[in-house]
Amino acid sequence: MLSTPVSELKGVGQKLNTAFKKKGISTVRDLIEYLPRRYEDFSAAQKIADLEPGNVTILASIESIETKTVRRGLKLTTAVISDGYSKLKAIWFNQPYRASQLKSGEEFLFSGKFEFSYNHYQLSNPSVEKPKIFLEKEPSGFLTPVYSSIKNIRPYNLRKIIESVRPTIALLPETLPDHFLDKFNLMSRSEAYFDIHFPESKEEIASAKRRLSFEELFEVMLASRLNKQENSKFDGCKIEFDLNIVKKFVEKLDFKLTNAQRLAIWEVLQDFQKDEAMNRLLQGDVGSGKTVVAGLAACVAASKGYQTAIMAPTEILATQHAESLQEILNNFGIKIALLTGSVKGKARKIILEKIKSGEIDVIVGTHALIQKTVNYNNLGFVVVDEQHRFGVKQRQALLSKADRMPNLLAMTATPIPRSLQLVVFGELDVSIINEMPKGRKKIETKIWAPTNIDTLYDKVDAEIEKGRQAYIICNLIDENPDNDTKSVEEEYRKLRSTVFNHRQVGMLHGKLSADEKQKVMQDFANHNLDILISTTVVEVGVDVPNSTIMIIQNADKFGLSQLHQLRGRVGRSSHQSYCYLVMSDNNKPTQRIREIEKSNDGFYLAQVDLDLRGPGEIYGNMQHGALNLKIANIADTKLISTVQKAVDYFIESGEDLKKYEKIYNNVKKYQKLTNLN
Ligand code: ADP
Ligand code: MG
Repeated sequence: MLSTPVSELKGVGQKLNTAFKKKGISTVRDLIEYLPRRYEDFSAAQKIADLEPGNVTILASIESIETKTVRRGLKLTTAVISDGYSKLKAIWFNQPYRASQLKSGEEFLFSGKFEFSYNHYQLSNPSVEKPKIFLEKEPSGFLTPVYSSIKNIRPYNLRKIIESVRPTIALLPETLPDHFLDKFNLMSRSEAYFDIHFPESKEEIASAKRRLSFEELFEVMLASRLNKQENSKFDGCKIEFDLNIVKKFVEKLDFKLTNAQRLAIWEVLQDFQKDEAMNRLLQGDVGSGKTVVAGLAACVAASKGYQTAIMAPTEILATQHAESLQEILNNFGIKIALLTGSVKGKARKIILEKIKSGEIDVIVGTHALIQKTVNYNNLGFVVVDEQHRFGVKQRQALLSKADRMPNLLAMTATPIPRSLQLVVFGELDVSIINEMPKGRKKIETKIWAPTNIDTLYDKVDAEIEKGRQAYIICNLIDENPDNDTKSVEEEYRKLRSTVFNHRQVGMLHGKLSADEKQKVMQDFANHNLDILISTTVVEVGVDVPNSTIMIIQNADKFGLSQLHQLRGRVGRSSHQSYCYLVMSDNNKPTQRIREIEKSNDGFYLAQVDLDLRGPGEIYGNMQHGALNLKIANIADTKLISTVQKAVDYFIESGEDLKKYEKIYNNVKKYQKLTNLN
């Protein structure tokens, strides 16, 4: 039965049951829906029980292994290996490293001589190979699914347990409308799961994946379509614009806007004038100048009596935005206020009153902007900076504070591929700033071995001597953020009492209070500090143009997009800037990390990340990790366009979604997640 608890299956004890629970597997149905990560071709492997003396290959894992010195010059390593059905002894002469190479639990392909010696069968001096992923070559025999590992169970035992529920797969009900199967050339749901777990060919796997991906994408895309439909029923805030104000704003800037910035501003102001609310994403690489686009639009909104809320992911960033906008918006008599968690007591009360009365035009803040106590007077424009950092729930909360649907501008430096936009946001309007302000020099980026760090400190010192400032990013890359704090504190104490005892050194990490953080950032921005030693809290948006050199420790542990974001803190002026990526060990740097040495292009680097690590790593936090596609590949544009047709077809046919219970429930779930409004 599909609803049978897995604990009732043979081979599932209490420990394993707990491990299954952690993976969300409680029933046989859950187990069937647990998807393999990849497949391997073990066609050459034989079962231990079937072996005949001679050269053989088996797929097995280590039960126990030990090395003994038999006599001088002879070390004997003995292992017991198992293929899940039978056990066999393997021996190696003078290969003591085998013990550390062969981690228990993992499966390996052992090839060697199977022989009878000293009264028992053994495998002598086998070579050991990690099984290869079959996709690299044509599969010839049977394909074995590889599941992400679960505690307390070896891979072959997990396969055996799944095998034991094989007959039950046929009971899986169809979830899609029946007529979809023919129309879009899909196999049934139960067939798909059958082929996913017990494939006979690569083609079967591909069709099964296509079927399951179709269903997943159908749910997400139907959800975003329904959201769009529902949102278009609301009245938007229509904001006419006055060209004189735009001109005056541009004159007050101490730089010339790039053409890309002009175009983005134009697109935003065009949207302002429409009846329905703007829903626009502004993408532009770090340092491309997105803030000013939002600033100008806020100025236009204020001139027509509309309030603007600008939400930033950190207090540091909110404070910086408030300060830089204040300078320019003051020229227009526009009142701006900063509202963060650390604005408390009386000061907070006053600000809240002024927001409510409409005395304040532009409110910059963190998620404090969406708290219940904040009431707006006439909210017409909402800006969400570094939007991939925000949960959609927060955006919803903010937008729901307006009487009419306010215009939304989401800004991000993390490029979102077109296909992902389509899936997640239905159809979002996008502006792209693909041009850097004039005079910027390419940041010189170099990979650095950890043993040679003193030379880097010399380089930092030389920059400071020239009047510049520096960042040193240290992160232990540990699950426990306390350890990051510790490493920053240690580095801070060490550097300021040794190499940099003649310099002003500051420290920044997540454990500091908001006031302390702000003070440190302020000191750094005002050049009271030469060096800022920090965790990745400076990653997002911080703008101190005088800083020209950055050292990133353990750089190989970061994603490329994140490194690119970090690096973007330098190179913000016409001075030549430098970024040094210190590796965590002296091993040869990977191809991946070399990419960032070569490229300063955030869009390119995001694509590399996407190809190498999948969308979850990069865009996971965009949806608070909740829009976690299990199987669909966001780069599969062909399938996405088929699903788009299916969504059209479904909506046009006027069928009742409630008839399809599983789809209905997931669509509701996704609708909550992906609704921007
Ligand atoms: P980001 O797109 O990363 O948010 P910012 O808006 O913080 O970038 O801008 C980065 C820096 O570039 C700021 O110091 C800003 O004042 C400056 N800047 C923005 N536009 C221009 C321009 N057209 N010319 C010169 N400097 C500019
Ligand atoms: Mg920014």
